Amino acid sequence: MFVSENLSVNEKNHLVIGKNDTVELAREYGTPLYVLDEDLIRKNCRLYKDAMDKYYGGNGLILFANKAFCSKYTCRLVNEEDLGIDVVSGGELYTAIKADFPMDKVYFHGNNKTVDELKLAVSHGVGHIIVDNIYELESLNEIAKDAGIVQNIMFRIKPGVDAHTHSFIQTGQIDSKFGVALENGEAYEIIEAAGKMSNVKVDGVHCHIGSQIFDIAPFEKAAEVMVNFMGDIKDKLGIEIDKLNLGGGYGIMYTEKDDPVPYDEYIKKVSEVVKNTAQSRGIKIPMILMEPGRSIVAPAGITLYTVGGVKDIKGIRKYVSVDGGMGDNPRYIMYESEYSAVVANNAGASAVEKVTIAGKCCESGDILLKDALMPEIKVGDTLAVLATGAYNYSMASNYNRIPRPAVVAVSNGEAKVVVKRETYEDLIRNDV
Ligand SMILES: *Cc1c(COP(=O)(O)O)cnc(C)c1O
Repeated sequence: MFVSENLSVNEKNHLVIGKNDTVELAREYGTPLYVLDEDLIRKNCRLYKDAMDKYYGGNGLILFANKAFCSKYTCRLVNEEDLGIDVVSGGELYTAIKADFPMDKVYFHGNNKTVDELKLAVSHGVGHIIVDNIYELESLNEIAKDAGIVQNIMFRIKPGVDAHTHSFIQTGQIDSKFGVALENGEAYEIIEAAGKMSNVKVDGVHCHIGSQIFDIAPFEKAAEVMVNFMGDIKDKLGIEIDKLNLGGGYGIMYTEKDDPVPYDEYIKKVSEVVKNTAQSRGIKIPMILMEPGRSIVAPAGITLYTVGGVKDIKGIRKYVSVDGGMGDNPRYIMYESEYSAVVANNAGASAVEKVTIAGKCCESGDILLKDALMPEIKVGDTLAVLATGAYNYSMASNYNRIPRPAVVAVSNGEAKVVVKRETYEDLIRNDV
């Protein structure tokens, strides 16, 4: 009935997440409020790990893509589940450091890491840095030399597979700011250059072909291209690479229209491609890394709002305004992303009319759901927007000087604040 498996309706007709009544959560912690179901996050972590065990004999590591939801809490949580993490900035790395995350399981990405970020990573013993370009490679080699270490690195490769939404094409991906391309020889050149450097060790190759992908085929194609590339590197440069990082991008259900493939199924399909290609190229089956972000946290999160006003413009549109919006969920204004919503205090009600759920920011595009079929909504109702666990809190802003909401984690009927609600004082903290 709902897009996420952890949601249900109780005898009060209230929406329940895990075992917690969302109307009570809204009352106790205030709105807008992010709620994360810790049990579902753990379950999703295990699902990926189990698939790795099953299809790669355990020779793999799942990294949680931190940018989907970065906090000390999520770092600790995925560490408890024995996952690694990928970070994409000094700030995400700093969060992991402060959460005592084991640095050997941190993978540092980014197309323009600064010297300060690289130094922070090297000085804390970050396990792998995914090098994007030749300038970064040279700079990192110097930084590692100064620190007296040999830094493990991987390279971000553009496999020429461009996967967007429901289809994929095999050209064009060369036009991307991330990584080095195969078509023009860039990828060979950079690995050859790294092979001659004293303070970096080429330990793997990486690709990431997009996000919210529903097809298996582009993942299979990318895996095939990457393993063949590893074969070519061995044949041409004599460098044996034993780690293959296949990135993230697995789609989730935001609305009834989305139809994600069960993760186990495509890990199985991709593993067959990896094994077959490795065998035909005469190379060892590499250790496999995967970097799911959205698919681990998105379904585990909801955002609760209070309805403040209903504006029925006859014959035009009915607007329902809530006490949050693009500040806590900028995905509609950025990508026109679609979501589903539920009247949390009347969760079993059937849809009766089309309404547009608007935020409170001074932007006409500040919409959460456009033309959504909803039950009758009244002022004071609690509205839940579903599957907001990824790229909501992590993309939140203080636009209009609206404080960011708190994040509450629920587990087995217990709730706890894991990120505090911002105050007005927080907003002016850096004003001089
Ligand atoms: C964003 C990103 C991911 C995670 O993508 P999801 O769509 O959230 O699974 C993984 N790896 C890299 C390098 C990324 O940039």
